[in-house]
Amino acid sequence: MPRRNVVITFDDGFSDIYDHALPVLSARHIPAVVFATTDRQSSDWPGRHRPYPLLTRSQLREMTESGIDIGSHSRTHARLTECSSDDLWNEVDGSKKILEDMLGREIRHFCYPYGTFDERTVAAVRKAGYQTACTTVRGAVGADIDPLRLPRLTVGKRMGLFHFLRRVIL
Ligand SMILES: [Zn+2]
Repeated sequence: MPRRNVVITFDDGFSDIYDHALPVLSARHIPAVVFATTDRQSSDWPGRHRPYPLLTRSQLREMTESGIDIGSHSRTHARLTECSSDDLWNEVDGSKKILEDMLGREIRHFCYPYGTFDERTVAAVRKAGYQTACTTVRGAVGADIDPLRLPRLTVGKRMGLFHFLRRVIL
């Protein structure tokens, strides 16, 4: 892997990505992956209130045509470590097939909802044929990192440019 590379990832697939990030990313050819769930509406999104609707199918298609990679964030944003074996497989493999049918291309990347994963969930992600999977473990990706347990650096909405640069460069 070349040094000093960055991939920007967005979890959950809310439409603010389409409205605000897509124009910037595509204008500057910045690689990015958006992790979408397949079976959720914004109205039944788990947890805190979300001000934006989820990305529509046509927005997802348009984003792939603009060079954004779409990955799976499961079907229902379930805690995969608490799922039965059947439900786990349905969340991991089922979402891959739904997105592949919807977008007409291979879905290669997965992101664990809530960042929860264990040996069993990683094995399911591997068996389904994903090449990478993102966690919420904090860190940069080095040569010795398991591609199905990728760490990330979170960029919060209140982070200023100085802290952003320090986090990315150091
Ligand atoms: Zn999520």
